[in-house]
Amino acid sequence: MACIFCRIIAKEIPAEFLFENDCAIAILDVNPIHYGHALVIPKNHHKDFLEVPEKELAGIMHAVHVVSRALVKSFELKGFNFFSNNGAIAGQSVFHFHIHITPRYEGDNIRFVLQLKRYEGDDMKDVASKIRAAILE
Ligand code: AMP
Ligand code: ZN
Repeated sequence: MACIFCRIIAKEIPAEFLFENDCAIAILDVNPIHYGHALVIPKNHHKDFLEVPEKELAGIMHAVHVVSRALVKSFELKGFNFFSNNGAIAGQSVFHFHIHITPRYEGDNIRFVLQLKRYEGDDMKDVASKIRAAILE
């Protein structure tokens, strides 16, 4: 079994476990953005979000909710982020779906570097139509 998260779930390699339910575990990320940075990982191997079956989503988000609440309480946070990288181009490095939860602090200067675009002409309508059509397919 090559997948590092599957090996953690199987207890073949150590991790700092925070929480577990029927669908997911939560552990500390070994290379945290801030202390307490956690990962929620489905127990079943799915390479990315799109591979996760719908029936597992509620359990995964339940774990995100429980751990977020605990981070806010234990570190007295004013804010936190949760996010997921899907695909190498989006920064995914472990190809077993997971959600990051990280504390945030005033002035910590952690940000996506955004170069925001503006929609031109009918582009916004066209983009929305394209996505709506894909949802109906
Ligand atoms: P991503 O780059 O979004 O795929 O996130 C993978 C995350 O897994 C990174 O933040 C790593 O620091 C973390 N990670 C990799 N190996 C381990 C491990 N053995 N235990 C805990 N976290 C890990
Ligand atoms: Zn895996």
